[in-house]
Amino acid sequence: MEPSDAPRRPAPIVTDDSAVFWDAAAEGRLVAQRCAGCGRLRHPPRPMCPQCHSLAVEVARLSGRGTVYSYAVLHHPQNPAFDYPLLAVLVDLEEGVRLVSNLTGTDTGDVRIGMPVEAHFVATAGGATIPVFRPAASA
Ligand code: ZN
Repeated sequence: MEPSDAPRRPAPIVTDDSAVFWDAAAEGRLVAQRCAGCGRLRHPPRPMCPQCHSLAVEVARLSGRGTVYSYAVLHHPQNPAFDYPLLAVLVDLEEGVRLVSNLTGTDTGDVRIGMPVEAHFVATAGGATIPVFRPAASA
C-alpha cells in the first residue's frame, strides 16, 4: 500500500505526439510545438500544422505566464485522485497558446477571468510531472 502522501493524480497518457510535452514537464519546463514551416505555435501537440499543413515541427519553450480565459468549479462527479472543489481552467499563455489545466493556491470564489497566473509542476502517480497553474506572484 502506498503512503497516504503519495501523489494520487493519474499520470498523463503519453503519445508519440505528446511525448515532447510530457518529457519537458518532467524537467519542469512548459513547451509547445512550433511549426517549422510557418512558425505558428500549437497546443495540444499534433502531427500537422493547422495553418500551413506542414509536418515539420520544432519545440518552443514557454514562459508559463498567462491569464485565465475561462474556468469551471467542479464538484461532481468526484474522482478519489483529486481534491474538491476542483478548479478547471483554460489558460491563455502569453505566447498565444491555450492550455486546459487546474488552478491551485486560490479559493474558488477568488478566480476571475483575465486573472494573471503562472505554471508550476506537480507530481502524479507513476512518477510523472504535470503543469498546473497558480495566481501569478506579481500581476
Ligand atoms: Zn505551419
